[in-house]
Amino acid sequence: MIKQKLQESFNRYLEELKELIRIPSISFPGFDKAEVSRSAHAVENLLKKIGATNLQHLIPPSSYPCVYGEIISDKTKPTILLYAHHDVQPQMREALWHSPPFEPEIRGERLYGRGSADDKAGILIHVAAVELILSTMGKESPNFKFLIEGEEESGSAGFGYLLEKHKDLLSCDAVIVADLGNFSKGEPSLTTSLRGMSAIEIEIFSTKAPLHSGSWSGPLPDPAQELCRLIASLSDNNGNILVPHFYDDIIAPTPEELDSYQKLGMTEQKFREEAGVLESTKLLVPESKICETLWRKPSLVVTAMEAGNRKQAGNVLQESAYARLGIRLAPGMNAKKATEQIIAFLQANIRHGLTLKIRTEDGAEPFTTDTSHPYFQYMAKSMEIAFNQKASFVGCGASIPGAEYFRKTFGNIPILLMGVEDPESNAHGENESLYLPDFEKTILAETLFFKELANV
Ligand SMILES: [Zn+2]
Repeated sequence: MIKQKLQESFNRYLEELKELIRIPSISFPGFDKAEVSRSAHAVENLLKKIGATNLQHLIPPSSYPCVYGEIISDKTKPTILLYAHHDVQPQMREALWHSPPFEPEIRGERLYGRGSADDKAGILIHVAAVELILSTMGKESPNFKFLIEGEEESGSAGFGYLLEKHKDLLSCDAVIVADLGNFSKGEPSLTTSLRGMSAIEIEIFSTKAPLHSGSWSGPLPDPAQELCRLIASLSDNNGNILVPHFYDDIIAPTPEELDSYQKLGMTEQKFREEAGVLESTKLLVPESKICETLWRKPSLVVTAMEAGNRKQAGNVLQESAYARLGIRLAPGMNAKKATEQIIAFLQANIRHGLTLKIRTEDGAEPFTTDTSHPYFQYMAKSMEIAFNQKASFVGCGASIPGAEYFRKTFGNIPILLMGVEDPESNAHGENESLYLPDFEKTILAETLFFKELANV
């Protein structure tokens, strides 16, 4: 019956999603803040239509509104907090879009437009699943609280503040974060870990100004070479980070998670194709370790580097060299501690008395969750029924700061991470798209999960 109701209403959900995509709610400096407010109002209207009450905009210091609403049917039933975000990334290079980024267009089985997958579809999944369960179970349904953030893409700077400030209003038994995705099209996935992130800017100085290399090089150290050597000394030939005690706090994946990673069928070929790896480039780990390395190990990349510049690359001994290191943190690690460990390593290993200046950025903490709670099994089972395909536990190499904030605020309640992105979605890039069959199946899965909760 739920499936039939979903089929009858699916086109309406699709139209509502398209309306949201038409609002360029970009939460970045230099873009019109009023558009983020406009999308907050559109979300509020959607919640109002399905009967949500106590509607309000929770305002973080950035003033990008987070939308709240609730449907409380029976206080003896569990309360589920439903999270998604209504802000989007900038459109990037407009010329590369095959249809305008804020004018949704269906081509084949995909809906194209900025926010189609990340994360306006997440909002509609919650709205549709709640409407469907209320129409079938009525007062027997679980209770729902909606929390639709307005600054996720620009870093969720005020999200921890909002959760703390409205802790009582938001209190719940479980959270569903619909902002992730599936391992592949048609393969339902529950994400059980996220990596964290931190960044360090390094600058090395030797002289007061650049010098003629013929007149001065030889006796003097070259800051650019020293920077390269210093960065290279941070990791070994397989990408293992050599900073002492860097891996000490990492929470290893459970046997169940490892088993699930193995069954995903990640092959070196699939990985190479999706990443666009050149033929002669070798991976740092064997095929069997790709998922674990991507999701449960830290990584370090140079995201920018500068010494002189290519346009004016004369015969100059540069006075300074710069690099920015991006560090992805494995579950269990702490952003501040990891940053400090790397800084101590750099300070201890720089040579020739060169001056080292370091600037750090605020990091995001990694996340992992206890999958032994029965809700994980209910959700996996609901996904399996909806997709007619067994659900996998996967990790995510990227960061969603909100997930860890939920854990900090609400303690050890189940936090279920799912969503409708797939490897072809190209979220954050041009031609972002949503695979419509998975959108429909995910709505069904979430509705079946609510039904399961109503029955226990
Ligand atoms: Zn997102």
